[in-house]
Amino acid sequence: MSGTFHEWDASGLAQGFHRGDCSAEANVEAAFARIELLDGELGAFAVLERERALSLARAVDRERAQGITPGPLAGVPVALKSNMCWEGVLAHCGSKILEGYRPPYSATFVERLIAAGAIPVGMTNMDEFAMGSSGENSAFGIARNPWDTRRTPGGSSSGSAAAVAAGMVPLALGSDTGGSVRQPAAFCGIAGFKPTYGRVSRYGLVAFGSSLDQVSPFARSVRDLELVTHVISGVDERDSTTAQLPALDPDPADGNLRGLRIGIPRQYFPAELAPDVRSVLDAAKAQWTALGAQLVDVDLPHTEHAIPTYYVVATAEASSNLARYEGIRYGLRVPGDGSLQGMFAATRAAGFGPEVQRRILLGTYVLSSGYYDAWYNRALKVRRLLRMEFDRAFEQVDLIIGPTAPTAAFKIGEKSSDPIAMYLSDVMTAPVSLAGLPGLSIPAGFVAGEDGQAPLLPIGMQIIGPALADARVLRAGRIFEAATGHHLRRPPLAAAARGGS
Ligand code: GLN
Repeated sequence: MSGTFHEWDASGLAQGFHRGDCSAEANVEAAFARIELLDGELGAFAVLERERALSLARAVDRERAQGITPGPLAGVPVALKSNMCWEGVLAHCGSKILEGYRPPYSATFVERLIAAGAIPVGMTNMDEFAMGSSGENSAFGIARNPWDTRRTPGGSSSGSAAAVAAGMVPLALGSDTGGSVRQPAAFCGIAGFKPTYGRVSRYGLVAFGSSLDQVSPFARSVRDLELVTHVISGVDERDSTTAQLPALDPDPADGNLRGLRIGIPRQYFPAELAPDVRSVLDAAKAQWTALGAQLVDVDLPHTEHAIPTYYVVATAEASSNLARYEGIRYGLRVPGDGSLQGMFAATRAAGFGPEVQRRILLGTYVLSSGYYDAWYNRALKVRRLLRMEFDRAFEQVDLIIGPTAPTAAFKIGEKSSDPIAMYLSDVMTAPVSLAGLPGLSIPAGFVAGEDGQAPLLPIGMQIIGPALADARVLRAGRIFEAATGHHLRRPPLAAAARGGS
């Protein structure tokens, strides 16, 4: 059965394990076979932990043999982003400054995954400290999009998205600060879910923008996202920003969406929206109506201020979070002129890449006395306005939809020399992060690649809900997905390698 591993989803694998159809060890072997076959071309993984994974898998198999009831993710291989702490495993965050850094503890969400029987297989490639939208800011090579390897899988959780899209693993975790899971999910034709801020503990996630960061899963289907979100969510005494709530319980109701009101913000369909993205979303709207939902126009007038606001808030928090990398406590140390200050400066100059340096400068500037009120404080006010206008919209509607990103996956190199163009990839995801709301990206359809030629490229649709309405967002996504079947489509690369694994 492991020969068709890449066709399996996490729910199917876990059920198969419960029934005794497969062993965790065989599943892990199948994942590594697939990784070996494809990762040379895709570069999704930064670190592989074969021996660890196999020993965890054998332990899961032994427990089943002893009659211990398997956990909900028993036997399911999973990939972790390189900014996640798994005790003793390299977590370089895509940065030279953390080269060789092995955290001495595991994140709460990693412990919860393992306790549920899931088996981490390795750490994935990412933009340095999760800053980027294409994976090109990694100090350790880039990941490629399985639908078209000349294109980016999106970012910053590039490797996690590529690994799931190519069927190397059925599940992966990423982190989403302004869109870093939803946008790559959209580019790779898979499902990605950023829960409400505070649903999932950040203990053991290396901080970028602490008031925005959320651990967020990728999967082939919404059902799998529900399963993994249930496992990793819930209050954690080690992270005081977690919501005082138990693990997320999915809403199992299937069927139609009669009575559901779906908001369509005109700001998410601007004139510049790529025409092919617009037509995919138009078809999706018709699908929602066919499912019984009612479409309602809503207004989110501050949307255009979300990107500047995000880049003030996120860089301010990043400049403070990244102050800890000075050559003493973690990773790289460059002596410089021999003085302490000289060592700090030389280490940070050599260790941080250009995008991270740009953001530290920007963040330090907006927090500096004299500029604090003009920039940081003002951004906090706009952030509150954004949240308030979402609240107002949610008095009229149950959910809001729009494209996840303004275009399909762009080419590697296309935007890397223009930071502002890169920042604009997040126009529809950053507002949701600033407001702390749940956002799900699922495939809404496909467009032709360049000049109308194959390969096809997936287009993502974002479904946004009010704070803590995570189960509602996921249920609607699951019903849309079942009705359209877009999630069943596989990239040609993965198809070509079928039978080879
Ligand atoms: N692309 C955005 C940025 O560069 C979002 C990153 C993220 O969500 N981690 O900051």
